[in-house]
Amino acid sequence: MLGEIGSQTGFHAAKSPCASAQASYPHTMNIVRVESFVRDRFGLVRLTREDGAQGWGQMAHGDPDVCATLLHRYLAPVCLGHTCTGLAELTQLLDACEFGPYKSRGTHLIRALAGIDSAGHDLLATAAGVPVCRLLGGEPMRLPVYASSLKRDTRPADEVDTMLRYCEQHGVSAVKLKVGHRLGRHRSEDAGRTEALIPLAAAAFGDRSLKVDANGSYTAEEAITVGRLLEQNGYDHYEEPCPYWRFDDTRAVTEALEIPVAGGEQDCCDAVLIHQVTAGCVDIIQPDVGYLGGLRRSLAVAAVAAQHDMPCMPHAPNPSLLFPMSMHLSCAMPNRGAYLERNANRPSFDIGMYTGLSPLVDGAVTVDDTPGWGVTIRDDWLSACQHQQSQL
Ligand SMILES: [Mg+2]
Repeated sequence: MLGEIGSQTGFHAAKSPCASAQASYPHTMNIVRVESFVRDRFGLVRLTREDGAQGWGQMAHGDPDVCATLLHRYLAPVCLGHTCTGLAELTQLLDACEFGPYKSRGTHLIRALAGIDSAGHDLLATAAGVPVCRLLGGEPMRLPVYASSLKRDTRPADEVDTMLRYCEQHGVSAVKLKVGHRLGRHRSEDAGRTEALIPLAAAAFGDRSLKVDANGSYTAEEAITVGRLLEQNGYDHYEEPCPYWRFDDTRAVTEALEIPVAGGEQDCCDAVLIHQVTAGCVDIIQPDVGYLGGLRRSLAVAAVAAQHDMPCMPHAPNPSLLFPMSMHLSCAMPNRGAYLERNANRPSFDIGMYTGLSPLVDGAVTVDDTPGWGVTIRDDWLSACQHQQSQL
């Protein structure tokens, strides 16, 4: 069936120079095929090993066509012929993927790397008959979620009503609302919304955990003013108050306020997130398993955060394979936050990409012992994808 997809949508079998040089590699568990499946804003990756074992992963959300180009140009040639029988070899492979194309090591290459990382973890876990979190030393578990609203164009009363209904319907005990104006732009469109929303939500949500995300809206001075209002109203999470690349501004806000400041989702460089931890820029670190290049780099950031007694709460608003990836990532973190992010704006969380995702019950999703990510990718979703493959 997939051959038909490829023939209809520009399928090509790219045999790289690197691949042919490694074709005589003496092991028998080599990666022999790297595939990408691009549709809308999503880009899945499938790795196939010589023995037929396969794993599914996903590149970061957004620009999947660009990421797929980089995947097949730079990363697939490194993967083909590389053995993949355990975490140590997967680590070697991912190191090689990062170090090889080092002059192109920007955000889209790292977004593509997330596809190799996650497909590699799924391949190993599925072959071993265990969930990915167990492969990483974690345990399957129940994960309480917070209802995350991505909307800024709503009136405060409507936003509170909508989110309260969602929380009551699903038994969710934590909520995150958008405040401010993304990166400080378009201020005139919703003047006064933040100042009205913060106390209104606090009164409506009772003892639920209340969080806000400013997406870099403020100067340090403005952010501290809004932070004081959040503190007065009992909020417990203040995300990205300043533009994410202005570390000193964010640190000034963190140092001035009692409310925990969160950040880190936007960056693709693990050293940047680690700096935010060690320099005290944030109180909660938020790697995005896609933007940061996969589970290995996210866990490395979480480990440094653990050394600083800092919780790690993955950025996870996307209803795709990125969500189960974030679930397993959370299970493997000893310092995971109290809640996992879950997009509350979609009437249905299922975008048709897979089956088998844990339902949201009593405010939580559950990772069980189903091998791999615990979901099955649907052929009918794949059938509308642009498919490319590189193979030995
Ligand atoms: Mg955010």
